[in-house]
Amino acid sequence: MKISALYLRDFRNFEELNLNLADTINIFLGRNAQGKTNILEAVNFSALGTARVAKDSELVRWTNDAALIRINFSKLDVSHVLALEIPAHSGRRKILLDGNSIKLRDCIGKLNAVMFSPEDLFIFRNSPASRRKFLNITLAQTAPIYFSELATYNRLIEQRNNLLKKIREGTAAPNSLEIWNEQLAAAAAKVTAKRITAVENLNILANEMQKKISAQSENLLLVYEIHDLKNVYAPQNFNCDYLQSWYYKIFSSRNFIDIARGSTSFGPHLDDLNFFINGKELRLYGSQGQLRTTALALKLSEIAMIKSAAGEYPVLLLDDVMSELDASRREKLLDFLLTQKIQTLITATERAYFPAQICGKIFQVENGAVHFEEEIS
Ligand code: ATP
Ligand code: MG
Repeated sequence: MKISALYLRDFRNFEELNLNLADTINIFLGRNAQGKTNILEAVNFSALGTARVAKDSELVRWTNDAALIRINFSKLDVSHVLALEIPAHSGRRKILLDGNSIKLRDCIGKLNAVMFSPEDLFIFRNSPASRRKFLNITLAQTAPIYFSELATYNRLIEQRNNLLKKIREGTAAPNSLEIWNEQLAAAAAKVTAKRITAVENLNILANEMQKKISAQSENLLLVYEIHDLKNVYAPQNFNCDYLQSWYYKIFSSRNFIDIARGSTSFGPHLDDLNFFINGKELRLYGSQGQLRTTALALKLSEIAMIKSAAGEYPVLLLDDVMSELDASRREKLLDFLLTQKIQTLITATERAYFPAQICGKIFQVENGAVHFEEEIS
């Protein structure tokens, strides 16, 4: 996946921007609050169909009615143009792929991009929801069916929860739970089985990346933690059929607990992911640099997984990582990106974070304008 050109109109602080990108590394330099992150956000928004932190309307330049993003890219050597119009007020956004109108759900995965930003560091210390989100996004990009399987699971949880409340109030019969338990067990098994496989893959890839960036000094282990294993027996294996009957037994055995609390107390919507560096829990014992390295290793494994599913690397968006790594880790990272030929857009405040000779283009970002500075090939 390579982006050749990016056009923005009335997006964040850009009135108009026209960029031709290098296939290799594109460095955006500038002082704080000039628009560096906004450029990466435009690409990420086009890939995911959703803004990471903002509401759609916040993406539109103040006082304007709509923002436009247009991206020329090639996917497996076929050229495409993706255009998104984002309204500031009411109305839906319009998405055109090669001139044809498409729905949001069909837009996801057309342009593959993965973004690393400083917020990613919170993944280790935030609530389990942010770690599940990481797994969900990784899986949605590598196994598209996961997206609808997860949506089915979430819908069933909501419906079962409504029923639990009705039973508690006495307006529904307890035996009406049976059918929901069956359906929920089937949906939960699909979600968990895919997550477990993803964690197995991540374990190999992320550890490789962690070792590479830390000059072999750090071993990373990821563990998928099934919620409340203290109170239920552990699954014997993670085969989907086995998991389905396992979930069914557990859901059924917890009917009364769930009725009393009016919600489903067990299932993949409550599971977690844990990280260990050289055997020590990262969340509790990791240094800042280790947290950063691990967050980066996860992103790099995510892109490796996308490569094995999609046949090529996605575009990598690295926001503000350089200042967070020491010189040796920075050098290892850039080496990796260049040898793997991963197109990367990377922001930084200082040119000094990069070697004098680095393959790619350097841009200066200043107050919503971008100046091309140099290209080294
Ligand atoms: P830093 O180095 O601090 O991360 P940055 O160059 O990455 O800075 P951005 O976050 O890309 O900065 O841009 C921030 C600028 O964009 C701010 O000046 C902000 O006021 C402006 N901005 C954000 N949203 C909008 C909007 N909808 N309309 C106009 N300007 C906006
Ligand atoms: Mg920024």
